[in-house]
Amino acid sequence: MKNTKYKPQQQIYEHFPSTNPPPPYSIHIVHVLTPSSVTSRRSESEKPSGEDNGVGPAGSGGGGIGRQGNATRRHVLLPHAEEVRSGQRPSSTTSHGPHLGGSRRGRMGRAFVYVILGGGVAAGYAALEFARRGGYSRGELCIISEEAVAPYERPALSKGYLLPEGAARLPGFHTCVGANDELLTTKWYKEQGIELVLGTKVISADVRRKTLLTATGETISYKTLIIATGARALKLQEFGIQGSDASNICYLRNIDDADKLVNAMKSCPGGNAVVIGGGYIGMECAAALVTNKIRVTMVFPEKHCMGRLFTEKIAEYYEKCYTSRGVTFVKGTVLTSFERDTTGKVTAVILKDGRHLPADMVVVGIGIRANTSLFEGQLVTSMENGGIKVNGQLQTSDSSVYAVGDVAAFPIKLFDGDIRRLEHVDSARRTARHAVASILKPSKTRDIDYLPFFYSRVFTLSWQFYGDNVGEVVHFGDFTSSSPRFGAYWVNKGRIAGAFLEGGSRDEYEAISVAVRRKAKVTNMAELEKQGLAFAIQESQTEAPDSGLAVVGKPTYAWHATAGVVAAVSIAAIGYWYGRKRRRL
Ligand SMILES: Cc1cc2nc3c(=O)[nH]c(=O)nc-3n(C[C@H](O)[C@H](O)[C@H](O)COP(=O)(O)OP(=O)(O)OC[C@H]3O[C@@H](n4cnc5c(N)ncnc54)[C@H](O)[C@@H]3O)c2cc1C
Repeated sequence: MKNTKYKPQQQIYEHFPSTNPPPPYSIHIVHVLTPSSVTSRRSESEKPSGEDNGVGPAGSGGGGIGRQGNATRRHVLLPHAEEVRSGQRPSSTTSHGPHLGGSRRGRMGRAFVYVILGGGVAAGYAALEFARRGGYSRGELCIISEEAVAPYERPALSKGYLLPEGAARLPGFHTCVGANDELLTTKWYKEQGIELVLGTKVISADVRRKTLLTATGETISYKTLIIATGARALKLQEFGIQGSDASNICYLRNIDDADKLVNAMKSCPGGNAVVIGGGYIGMECAAALVTNKIRVTMVFPEKHCMGRLFTEKIAEYYEKCYTSRGVTFVKGTVLTSFERDTTGKVTAVILKDGRHLPADMVVVGIGIRANTSLFEGQLVTSMENGGIKVNGQLQTSDSSVYAVGDVAAFPIKLFDGDIRRLEHVDSARRTARHAVASILKPSKTRDIDYLPFFYSRVFTLSWQFYGDNVGEVVHFGDFTSSSPRFGAYWVNKGRIAGAFLEGGSRDEYEAISVAVRRKAKVTNMAELEKQGLAFAIQESQTEAPDSGLAVVGKPTYAWHATAGVVAAVSIAAIGYWYGRKRRRL
């Protein structure tokens, strides 16, 4: 029995010797946009989002190692970046050329009715919702993104993107395939009349004047703003670790990071990698590294992996599984410095306990920080839980400004209105859609009623978690099998507050989500343990809950087990690769 609380990732600060605050954003990049075209379509509204398609690993904002400080990085030509990536010729490009949409572009720049700031998961799902609701005219809506490509399913970057064979690549995992929905390529945005202003960093915002200033010096104005700036990976520099800008140190938040990681893996086959951090980025990257035949040592200060979510018993299962694949765990300590060769590359990681770990490459997954800085001090009720505080309509204290995804701290009805900032893809999708509904149909849109959901997939394993990990824990199922099916309930004040399941079927995942959503009553802990999964299945098959909380609409969970096509491919590919490896051995 254990009482745990899901803690924000900023906690990672305490894991490092220095706790200096992060430096201000480094300014890099420049640029471009594509001409818009039209079409507004109407279709269903609050369609629940689902599991991402797990197409590969991704990186963080910020551009990786050695690029802090002054402008050192330049993206060129962005409108059709995925075509460029895939070696095709861009079909058309403009660089601050004449704008052909409904926006006005004067000396000061352009004006839009709706601006989505940020081009990640939430932006893609918001765009689809706008298109389906037909809530804008040609050229009235734009997405401004620091990234060079149209919004994509970020979770794919630590999964299918890192596969040694058959790796996922754009345009295959643009949003919104992760929810088994449309694949939104740059062509789609063009057809929909949505302006993609890619490779463009916004460096300041003026909420009073409703303007954004880009790094290229353009002022873009809006009537309604959706902040979808997500989060960035915390860097070792922020903790005063010297030498952490080496070329073989990798982070993972965006596609540039993912490309760097792929190249690093290719450059040291059979070599040694040290993974710093035992959260989901560390765990998923470690799995990818061993799949790419690289020896892995994981270092983290906690007693066990996934310390913010897993119980000791759950963690033990996954750690055994990793160990059997050759991963070494070094727990309860942190890195203090690096050894480097004459070219500046890291050759070893030095730990606080004095150990030296040889390293051909290092992957760092030590948490994220929400990208709030543009708006700090600009909104009346501004920040909470490291994010921008919004109400149940995802609206900030300024009625023309909304915030969604990783950057938003919003009330969770299920947790009695507690304000939470979630760092999960399903939350980004759902909040984005809800904000658009709130903007376009304010009187018809009720406050969001979100059931927190998170998942991960490594090797051939796959788990899902719903709710909050507070209260007493009851484990159930088989923790010994190599094709496991086990889980845990968190029981708070006599009711189910959270549930975790590994290896479940679609119906089983749905069942645990129902039990959490309904806050199913638990009268006897021993009986709950005995019943295990059957408790949730029974609950999901019974009529209306006695908790007074009804399941509203088609719930999110119905989609989760329906992994997107690419997810299935990704898992199958890993399974296939392992199968082949075993046969070869
Ligand atoms: C590698 C990886 C794997 C993940 N796996 C999972 C998983 O398995 N399950 C799960 O539930 N969640 C997972 N997540 C988390 C999930 O991807 C995020 O919760 C989700 O991406 C949040 O969406 P968002 O739109 O809020 O932010 P993001 O997707 O991060 O998008 C933010 C966008 O804003 C842009 N931006 C920021 N500041 C500026 C600026 N000043 N000017 C212009 N543009 C700006 C960024 O460049 C980026 O395009 C994973 C995340 C990563 C990085």
